[in-house]
Amino acid sequence: KRIGYAIVGLGNLSLGQILPGFGASKYGKPVALVSGDADKAKKVAAQYGINPKNIYNYQNFDNIKSNPEVDAVYIVLPNSMHEEYVVRAAKAGKHVLCEKPMATSAAACQRMIDACKQAGKKLMVAYRIQYEPHNRLAMEWVRSQKFGKVKVIDMMNSQNIGDPSQWRLKKALSGGGSLPDIGLYCLNTARFVLGEEPHTVIASTYSTPGDERFKEVEETVSWQMHFPGGAVVSAATSYGVHQSRRYRCYADKGGWFGLDPAFEYSRLQMEGSHAEGNQEIKIAPSIKEVQQFALELDHFAQCILDNKTPFTPGEEGLQDQKIMEAIYESAKTGKPVKLQTITTIDTFR
Ligand code: NAD
Repeated sequence: KRIGYAIVGLGNLSLGQILPGFGASKYGKPVALVSGDADKAKKVAAQYGINPKNIYNYQNFDNIKSNPEVDAVYIVLPNSMHEEYVVRAAKAGKHVLCEKPMATSAAACQRMIDACKQAGKKLMVAYRIQYEPHNRLAMEWVRSQKFGKVKVIDMMNSQNIGDPSQWRLKKALSGGGSLPDIGLYCLNTARFVLGEEPHTVIASTYSTPGDERFKEVEETVSWQMHFPGGAVVSAATSYGVHQSRRYRCYADKGGWFGLDPAFEYSRLQMEGSHAEGNQEIKIAPSIKEVQQFALELDHFAQCILDNKTPFTPGEEGLQDQKIMEAIYESAKTGKPVKLQTITTIDTFR
């Protein structure tokens, strides 16, 4: 059986990646669309062979409750809308896959987790990087100490953001600037490769004065995370410079490795170097490219079919949200912030 997905929100990600991604999916198929634009939805439904009777809008969305073709709902809306639609989907008795960032506050993440629990439905946050083979190999090398213990990781995710009127630059819809949108990849991937939770963060933010894009949200964030095993992660994210989406892990027995790019949809590349005697050997494994959205859609579908907990459950999104709140607090106060209340969740199931 294939799991039937309803896609909520027909923006760039849904049209450019998720719907095409079903073409490579083994266990999922798109069966319903939810959009505020009926004409667009009709066209997209025809393109993907979706029955036009399975088109919903934001008002009648709750009627999916009585549609047995829909097993799961994938929320692909602006960040601050995730909570409402995750809760409504759970109340309609559907499993929910939610785009990142999960929400715009830790309290909202908790309410989403509770709503899905109460409804007895699964909740997964769409952290595609945790399903992607290059990043999974980096995770294995960090955790197996292939080139020694990784003590330092540096990470960057940046892009020069355009249109000043877009929702990403409106705090009420985005919850923040570069950090929750793209900096989150550094944060989540660091936790993933290390398999640990940071105990302290130190951060600062900067926005170019007078740049109309950054009236409400921050342009650049630079932060450090300290992990219990001794690793120090130095990360930066910016909406104001050319795109760069990479990280490097530095180990103590003569090796470094990383990905450049690390967070793109395709053409990821692993790179590095390690010492053998007095020779430096380049690291450049070739790994088959995959459709990242098909992998995550299939993972969630299999969790539903086999009644398993997703690898990136709602708790994973909550954890990141708590850390982002600590990063903003550190930037505001100019002091390190301790994260004692964060319990370790096992991301390596
Ligand atoms: P987008 O602006 O292209 O699409 C958003 C959709 O929401 C549009 O169809 C828009 O019509 C609809 N919408 C409904 N109410 C709206 C409102 N009040 N204001 C603005 N739009 C409204 O955005 P996107 O790039 O598709 O991002 C959607 C979500 O997916 C975000 O949470 C984003 O963080 C996430 N995302 C994830 C990835 C990834 O790689 N996992 C990549 C891009 C975006």
